[in-house]
Amino acid sequence: MERFRTIIEPFRIKSVEPIRLTTVEEREAKLRAAGYNLFNLRAADVLIDLLTDSGTGAMSAEQWAGIQRGDESYAGSPSWFRFLDAVTDLWPFRHVIPTHQGRAAEKILFSVIGGPGKVIPSNTHFDTTRANVEFTGAEAVDLVIPEGREPATIHPFKGNMDTDALDALIRARGAENVPVVFVTVTNNSGGGQPVSLTNLRAVREVCDRHGIPLFLDACRFAENAWFIREREDGYAAVAVPDIVREMASLADGMTMSGKKDALANIGGWLALNDDRWAEQCRNLLILTEGFPTYGGLAGRDLEAMAAGLREVVDEDYLRYRIRSTAYLGEALVAAGVPCVQPIGGHAVYLDAAALLPHIAALEYPGQALACALYREGGIRGCEIGTVMFGMRPDGSEVAAPMELVRLAIPRRVYTQSHIDYVIEVIRWVAERASALRGMRIVEQPSALRHFTARFEPIQ
Ligand SMILES: *Cc1c(COP(=O)(O)O)cnc(C)c1O
Repeated sequence: MERFRTIIEPFRIKSVEPIRLTTVEEREAKLRAAGYNLFNLRAADVLIDLLTDSGTGAMSAEQWAGIQRGDESYAGSPSWFRFLDAVTDLWPFRHVIPTHQGRAAEKILFSVIGGPGKVIPSNTHFDTTRANVEFTGAEAVDLVIPEGREPATIHPFKGNMDTDALDALIRARGAENVPVVFVTVTNNSGGGQPVSLTNLRAVREVCDRHGIPLFLDACRFAENAWFIREREDGYAAVAVPDIVREMASLADGMTMSGKKDALANIGGWLALNDDRWAEQCRNLLILTEGFPTYGGLAGRDLEAMAAGLREVVDEDYLRYRIRSTAYLGEALVAAGVPCVQPIGGHAVYLDAAALLPHIAALEYPGQALACALYREGGIRGCEIGTVMFGMRPDGSEVAAPMELVRLAIPRRVYTQSHIDYVIEVIRWVAERASALRGMRIVEQPSALRHFTARFEPIQ
């Protein structure tokens, strides 16, 4: 196979979902009715849906077979033990606590270890992680390396944590106020950029020096392991599951969304070594999620994750996954469309500020671009810029550091011709970028406005 360059989808398709072709006029009408907010669209009116890679993947025949096999016993179901074996084969932590999705694991963990006066450092907290930390009264601090904040800077491990800044933070605040250090792999909010094992070891050293446990937000652990294999010295010949186990050996626990690298549509877990924390977390779990052998899930969901965990570390899958995301990004870069670089694992981020310099930040270039991609080609992405981050708690507005449109790639869903179409649409829009106008908000809630705000184009 090495003789041929084309990287094919390492699967064939035996169940299809039709997507409905629409016209520009239809989509313009849908946009207007949705208040130019793509979250308000009906999914059936979207041609290629790149809003998120969370829970939107296609399951395999093995996963569907597992769903049929799912055992719904309240306690001690065989499905639970198959799930537990699959998790601990990669992540041999002493305790595994299933939850209905990643944020439930975060909620339970931070309820136990957070609280006022505490500070939780991470390379970059994902938004639900930050929200769950802050909800307890604790402070969430992002300490990614400086390169991780610069869209155009190329670095093989842009998700790495700044270990000097971590050490300084712990000294300044006191180790007793830092219950845990988190590292997100890959760094979702930072562009899906990976973290190296060298960096994880360095973070571990800082943690050991201060007696603080290290946890991974491991949502995209397999994509991260693939980047380590491709980019880190000494790992080119190491099997992906062994790289994952090495990541696990450096950590004391993890939170996980099964909607990402467990290739499932729902699910998650918390895993950890500390017996006392685990007992407290299980007590909370029973209160809000369910009995410890099912969490907030059906037995069939546990089966889907168990099968997904075996498939996600397959080299053919990962090569296809990472290459197909890069295929989209590299084609856009070659066409002169500004993107966050290097291309991350699960998404391509368009730099709307660079593409639309004539639109001021407070006229939402990312929103204008996202709407244009839908109008012209039926593609749904997600603004990550001033609409999402620009409103202060007092209601005033400030420009976000970056104006991005994220195109997240669902796992095993779209083929290369779908992506070729996406490339063509984006090039079409980019060539006409100077004609795009900014947007104004006509209605918005007081928090998390990107989900429900209504806009209109500025004439
Ligand atoms: C999706 C995600 C979460 C939260 O998981 P949910 O299953 O959506 O609750 C946490 N961290 C990261 C990095 C994520 O991508």
